[in-house]
Amino acid sequence: MTAKKTEVRVRIAPSPTGYFHVGGARTALFNWLFAKHHGGKFILRIEDTDLERSKKIFEEDIITSLQWLGLDWDEGPIRQTDRLNIYEKHLRQLLEKGSAYYCFCTKEELEAERQGMLAQGFAPKYSGKCRKLTADEVRANQKKALASVIRFRIPETRVDFTDIIRGNISFDGALIGDIVIAKDLRSPLYNFAVVVDDAEMAISHVIRGEEHLANTPRQIFIQEALGFSRPKYAHLPLILNPDRSKMSKRFSATALHEYKDHGYLSEALVNFIAFLGWHPKDDKEILSIEELIKEFDLERVQKAGAVFNVDKLDWLNAQYLKKLTAKELAKALAVAPTEDNFKIIELTRERMKKLTDFKALTEFFYELPDYDSKLLVWKSSPRRAILENLREEEKLLGGLKSDDFTRAESEKLLLPLAEARGRGDTLWPLRAALSGQEASPGPFEIMDALGKKETLRRIQIAIDKLASHEEN
Ligand code: GLU
Repeated sequence: MTAKKTEVRVRIAPSPTGYFHVGGARTALFNWLFAKHHGGKFILRIEDTDLERSKKIFEEDIITSLQWLGLDWDEGPIRQTDRLNIYEKHLRQLLEKGSAYYCFCTKEELEAERQGMLAQGFAPKYSGKCRKLTADEVRANQKKALASVIRFRIPETRVDFTDIIRGNISFDGALIGDIVIAKDLRSPLYNFAVVVDDAEMAISHVIRGEEHLANTPRQIFIQEALGFSRPKYAHLPLILNPDRSKMSKRFSATALHEYKDHGYLSEALVNFIAFLGWHPKDDKEILSIEELIKEFDLERVQKAGAVFNVDKLDWLNAQYLKKLTAKELAKALAVAPTEDNFKIIELTRERMKKLTDFKALTEFFYELPDYDSKLLVWKSSPRRAILENLREEEKLLGGLKSDDFTRAESEKLLLPLAEARGRGDTLWPLRAALSGQEASPGPFEIMDALGKKETLRRIQIAIDKLASHEEN
């Protein structure tokens, strides 16, 4: 008989106390890829037990960010505040068997205790004073309505566990001290609620950021007291700024929705985030979501911090932009899917790194910027010659039928003139007249997108600018 392989069930458990950030997205993506790779389940759990700091707007941000990235979940969102009965049941169980106890120490007492330990050169931890209270003493204190919390009795033994990424890890329970696991029976805290939920939801692998590593021994002790089995652990490396300082969650630029607002494609961001601490066997840099699912494994996740390199993200985004058709790009840019817009997109896409570049690169198509007549003059050519050339171009183009106003036709018409009078003196002023800018696509491409009427209007404006200068 072969043993049934246990099902892979993973989760992300964000707290809705701030906008969903890149670190959260990386945890979500790695869990999601792991679940997909193993045909398992990905669960979304909202850890909203901190009532003061949890906000609906942040929960919505988590959900819309995950949806934007395409990280769909199989179960959830499950909110911890909907599960208070479950936590209460387990808290009572711990209190009954003496693994947890009520603590009545005041803030002032705790602070004095802390300072005392520091003064003696010890790492501060709770002294365990209220461990010794009898049931009668507890009842008497409660009768007096003394403020209390519920503490977990951390065993004074070592705890060892294997982290898939970091190998064997060992902590000494004696150094931890009894931790607060709930403010009261209806107000559980993170380290306790997470243990109950991971067990109740049959989580097989806990994949989360390195900042939670120190919580793991605490959680294992609680698990053991409740008789739960231990999931496998994998702690993902920190994400670092390019100067290798720690990337802060409070750093507003790292909220995920900002990347969307700044014109990044979700596919590019997913590809980029997948490489924050992981890379495939070969040196491929662009991987589709299917390839990521196929190749992803926790064994290849690195221990060392993963540097967030914005240039790499920009490069990837440009690669993904190149893959889109003009129609797809129009949709992503939220511009009308008209032939004219498709032409403008085709002319601009090569120079776009982000969707937001589109506006600056194409504004002149929609509205001619105001410019100085100097822009029309090629090097030190005489203004007269430029003016004459523009007049000649206007005349030639005016003779074309609107339907024939194509790139091929206008080139056929104007290139002989350009050869005869010099490209600089003919095509530069034309391009400048059409774009009003120092740099832009070539004049024939712009004309094609603008059409006859607008082309002639813009040439006329240039002529007027030069002519009025002549008269003065
Ligand atoms: N609620 C925790 C956080 O947002 C998640 C902890 C965990 O994954 O165990 O960091």
